[in-house]
Amino acid sequence: MIVRITRSRFLRQLTLSILGLVCALTFAACGGESPTATVGNPAGGTGEAATTLRVGTEPAFPPFESQGTDGNLEGFSIDLMNAVAEEAGVQVEFQSLPFDGLVPALQAGTIDAAISSMTITAERAQAISFSRPYFKAGLAIAVQDDSSDVTSLDSLRNKKIAVQLGTTGAQEAQKIEGAQVRSFDSAPLALQELANGNVDAVINDAPVTLYAIKSGNIPGIKVAGTLLTEEYYGIALPKNSPNAEKINTALNTLLTNGKYNEIYQKWFGSEPPTLPEAAPI
Ligand code: GLN
Repeated sequence: MIVRITRSRFLRQLTLSILGLVCALTFAACGGESPTATVGNPAGGTGEAATTLRVGTEPAFPPFESQGTDGNLEGFSIDLMNAVAEEAGVQVEFQSLPFDGLVPALQAGTIDAAISSMTITAERAQAISFSRPYFKAGLAIAVQDDSSDVTSLDSLRNKKIAVQLGTTGAQEAQKIEGAQVRSFDSAPLALQELANGNVDAVINDAPVTLYAIKSGNIPGIKVAGTLLTEEYYGIALPKNSPNAEKINTALNTLLTNGKYNEIYQKWFGSEPPTLPEAAPI
């Protein structure tokens, strides 16, 4: 059974508009150049390589992408995307979008790329393209601190599970027999539902759940069991993107010249694992 709990479309649009306005004002206040000077590629995959990349992200996924207290975007992915752009000699203009709106926006050509901890999956690769993998992650089950009966996916049968809409965690939850799956617009909202005691578990990307616990953002929860899956994040691009080669070359350079290591250390405080050249999908 799937219960979709989500804000009304109106509220969602309103939130996004406000977010957009705040971003625009923050940008103007910082004396940045006009963000409207975009030479994007409205047709999606077939035009010229862009000099300004419009990059979509859902900034509610710390420590990868989030909005800092000053309203600016921050996180591992934001630093990495800025480094990729610098290396490739292009500008970046970030756009905040709901996670489940990123693939449609790439297909419609309203953004040139998305960096949003998006797992490279065979299903998504039919609709869009991905860069080479830039991060190794996986799913984890989160439960309340005092819970002891959830140890694996199997033990989640007939339980209430909160997930983020359109994610690999949501897909995994939907495979579980008898589970009541509740979908939320963001991972923090799903984790909060668990902290409030309204669900038995959350299936979400392990690094994000671990960060929420460590940072004290969501108190009273813990990770049950270890990583459920091995997943690789890629920069999402429209099919036949004219920017794909530039982005991949830049990523490869950053992975070998120490810059990737530096950004990884900054956000995760450890050495990065070695990444495969392609995701095993
Ligand atoms: N890695 C997960 C996915 O691709 C979740 C990503 C996210 O919520 N930003 O579905």
